[in-house]
Amino acid sequence: MKVLVLNCGSSSVKFQLIETDPELMEKGEEKVLAKGLVERIGEPMGNLKYSATCREPLSIQAPVPRHQEAIEKILSLLTDAEHGVVKSVDEIEVVGHRMVHGGEEFKASVIIDEEVLAQIEKCSRLAPLHNPHNIRGYLASRETISAVPHVAVFDTAFHQSMPKYAYLYALPYEMYTEHGIRRYSFHGTSHRYVSNQAARMLGKKRWDFKIITCHLGNGCSMAAISNGKSVDTSMGLTPLEGLVMGTRCGDIDPAVVLYMIDLEGYNPEKVGGLMNKKSGLLGVSGVSNDMRELLQACEQGNERAQTAVDIFCYRIKKYIGAYAAAMGGVDLVIFTGGIGENAPIVRKKCCEDLAFMNIEIDDQANNNVKGRDAIISNADRHVKVFVVHTNEEVVIARDSVQCVLQGAPE
Ligand code: ADP
Repeated sequence: MKVLVLNCGSSSVKFQLIETDPELMEKGEEKVLAKGLVERIGEPMGNLKYSATCREPLSIQAPVPRHQEAIEKILSLLTDAEHGVVKSVDEIEVVGHRMVHGGEEFKASVIIDEEVLAQIEKCSRLAPLHNPHNIRGYLASRETISAVPHVAVFDTAFHQSMPKYAYLYALPYEMYTEHGIRRYSFHGTSHRYVSNQAARMLGKKRWDFKIITCHLGNGCSMAAISNGKSVDTSMGLTPLEGLVMGTRCGDIDPAVVLYMIDLEGYNPEKVGGLMNKKSGLLGVSGVSNDMRELLQACEQGNERAQTAVDIFCYRIKKYIGAYAAAMGGVDLVIFTGGIGENAPIVRKKCCEDLAFMNIEIDDQANNNVKGRDAIISNADRHVKVFVVHTNEEVVIARDSVQCVLQGAPE
């Protein structure tokens, strides 16, 4: 089946056309027929990048007023005689949409109908910067590809299996019942993909292991996965909680917020901006939010850059310990995301001195990953440490097919 995967942001649409079916899924052999992105929607000049199997990559500059035109342009390229990979839009059998927030309503991916749409709209109050754009993309694509099912795949759904003691904050209970204040967390599709993939590399299923996944990109989160289910995860009501990130501070004493308001006269918007956009690796180092630049600065002896990297890795190491305790052990630790996949020194530091927990990196394996999925731990240790290249689009494609063929996927 050909699945069009769409990830719509405020001014962008990322897309992939993926061929998959139950047999290809079982073998993990899905084919990406075409992919690309439209950026700067609504600006005077938009930008479209497109690549397809056996076709020259394209980069087109043209105004793209709305998501509707972006999707029409994508479809015209996919069906174009010179650049396309399908003869007509009718070959697309299902459309999968990334939806950021599914609240408590959605524990799995689902075919979108009017009732589902209304519920997703209700969740927008929890993700005002994301859900409205995801919905806009859905509505635009439904106009053009109206004859096939559209499936919503939520970042939050995988973590809906957390027990109450893991997701509830110790605030007055009404904050939860009346305002939905609890931990939801994000990156669920990535944590699910990499845990499945690592288990597959061992010829097993993710249900067979206690797994700690570390998604380290611009946004960073970790998950504890036991019996195949997410039982704890580091992000919270919003993506600000947990690990140190490019520009986000992650865990801090909540009273720091009150202190800043009191001491500096900051308003909530300013504090929010400071913690979301000016903190993390950027805030501590004063150099960059980009790990590549930070590692270079460390090599040149920049002390603040070194401190930023140290805090980043130390926080991850603490969470590894915490999640092993939460699950009563750990069998697999998995690194993914731009940093997790590409920065051996970060992986090494996160696992330093954990031999007492049977976690030890093999330096040669760690330094030779180079674009592959690989095991990087010392073979003598019980815990296997993996690098797995995440692929959220393939999860969206798989879920879309499963929703169509047999109802809700796991
Ligand atoms: P996003 O969360 O936006 O999807 P990515 O998963 O692409 O982000 O990760 C971006 C991060 O990955 C950046 O901090 C970037 O510096 C880092 N990164 C990418 N390549 C490397 C590399 N070769 N070495 C170290 N860090 C890298």
